[in-house]
Amino acid sequence: MTFRSKAKPREKALAAFQKLRRYQEATDNGFVRCISCGKLMSVKEAQGGHLVSRRVRATELKHDNVWPQCPKCNGPLSGNVIAYRANLVKLIGVVRVQRIEDLANASEGDEEAYQRLSGEDRRSTVRKHNEAEYEALAAGFRSQTRILQKEKVS
Ligand SMILES: [Zn+2]
Repeated sequence: MTFRSKAKPREKALAAFQKLRRYQEATDNGFVRCISCGKLMSVKEAQGGHLVSRRVRATELKHDNVWPQCPKCNGPLSGNVIAYRANLVKLIGVVRVQRIEDLANASEGDEEAYQRLSGEDRRSTVRKHNEAEYEALAAGFRSQTRILQKEKVS
């Protein structure tokens, strides 16, 4: 019998993606700022906070949907979402933030949001990854993270 991790492939992929996003946003010294409150912290202390809930498949693995967040904002403050969105608009601009929201709304049937999306994004509102795809995605995210971890001392 071969060892199999208990975590489901989708969970593994999402966890690996959240870690990758934290390292992508880290300074060369291994620090990140909480997207909501601005707290400076070690990349290891940070969590991956979502603008749109990770329950939504269309945005679960989108770069602009996952940013470093402190455990307080991501936990007791339930995402600290008003500050999250306001600071993200300042950081990447309203067009990129609205794209994430359009992806989520279109996947729930909002036709106006759907019309604003690119062809590729329209496809991702209906596409679901299978377990093998999630496994492959997780492996890819982990190898990208390992490269960044070597570059960014923490
Ligand atoms: Zn915070």
